[in-house]
Amino acid sequence: MTRTYLIKPVLDHHYPAITHGEGIYLYDSQGKQYIDGSSGAVTASIGHGVQEIIDAMAEQSKKVSFVYRSQFTTEAAEQLAKKISEIAPGNLNWSFFVNSGSEATETAMKIAIQYWQEKGMKTKSKIISRWMSYHGITMGALSMSGHIQRRERFELMLESYPSISAPYYYRDAGHRTITECDDFYAQQLEKEILRVGKDHIAAFIAEPMIGAAGGALTPSDEYFLKMKDVCDRYEILFIADEVMTGVGRTGKMFGMEHFNVIPDIMATGKGMSAGYTPIAAAVVSDKVMEPILNGSKIVMSGHTFSANPQSAATSLAVLNYIEKHNLVENSAVNGAYLKGKIRELAEESEIIGDVRGKGLFVGVEFVENKLTKKTFDRGLDIVNKIVEANFEEGLLVYPANAGEDGLTGDAIILAPPLTITKEEVDELVRKFAVALRNVEREVLGKLLKK
Ligand code: PMP
Repeated sequence: MTRTYLIKPVLDHHYPAITHGEGIYLYDSQGKQYIDGSSGAVTASIGHGVQEIIDAMAEQSKKVSFVYRSQFTTEAAEQLAKKISEIAPGNLNWSFFVNSGSEATETAMKIAIQYWQEKGMKTKSKIISRWMSYHGITMGALSMSGHIQRRERFELMLESYPSISAPYYYRDAGHRTITECDDFYAQQLEKEILRVGKDHIAAFIAEPMIGAAGGALTPSDEYFLKMKDVCDRYEILFIADEVMTGVGRTGKMFGMEHFNVIPDIMATGKGMSAGYTPIAAAVVSDKVMEPILNGSKIVMSGHTFSANPQSAATSLAVLNYIEKHNLVENSAVNGAYLKGKIRELAEESEIIGDVRGKGLFVGVEFVENKLTKKTFDRGLDIVNKIVEANFEEGLLVYPANAGEDGLTGDAIILAPPLTITKEEVDELVRKFAVALRNVEREVLGKLLKK
């Protein structure tokens, strides 16, 4: 193999080179076609090679690609912020642009802390989060995440913010009703607030539906109402991490819209530009901005590339495209169709324990025993096997881990572009079924020999 100069995720792994993409398909240099069943990392929401976006990008680069936010504003950034205030629920009217989901959640965290400072409550600086969570890879964002693998090397440098359980009914509801589970989760939040002291807590952060750390784990309709009630009683802000669930992914524009709770601050990224260029945002409510506008008048954060016009114009074109083509609706309709098809497969399958999610955000959890919900041996690395078997068939699926201990759940997420048609869903499901059978044959064969 010729030498590489690129640090890739796994250094001794061979990654095929993608030469081009069109719609839901990607093509590698050997001519192999892949269905982008995960939109990359749940990002390429409108599919690949969309001419309208390419035109908008070219148009903006002919005008100006970069200006520095400390010196100028631009029409592109202003228009994008206006658009987000229109599509975001409630009065989440202010956008702070950054370049990645990690920066968005970390900015949200800093703004939450600043909010309390401006109100004279300077000790409110900790964040409560859930062990099953992923909010990003930078130190602040990782401090809020319970993702063991991503934390362990840096544990000594991180804050121990994540502490409470996330709703995981598939495993928690065995001896309890969903309502009892929700009450338990809300009590945990309350206990944690009382333990740390409400005067030390700035915010509670949660993904509406858990992605990388849960495999599209979906709460009940009441869960967030109960959690928000606790936050309100103890004067704690609520940050929704919509980096994965935002912009149509779950069949609503933002995931929290399913749960009738409006966050004080929202982080969004990924699908916001559908991967055409890096951009993300902390979207802030009028309530949170008010003391800042009346106080220091500066939000203490920012990056060189924040609000750059090239990314802003691209994201604006993507949001307009999503609206024009009713892609949120398509996500709801074809997502329900996809989940139904996977549920049919699950009935036949000996290793699919749970199928969950909303819209085109479908999680599939694998177990060795469907009755006892026993997980596979760690050594078997079942998630990787599933991902590779699908890759072999030309279908990309997103690996996820569920379980606070890193042991209790093995899942993947299906999250194809929101543009996917019913026929393309059928094609995706056919490939998934073949891969599933191949893995089943291999692992069940091994189990019989044990
Ligand atoms: N929050 C959530 C919910 C995510 O899924 C991710 C990315 N998987 C992030 C934050 C971090 O985003 P990024 O990788 O763009 O930094």
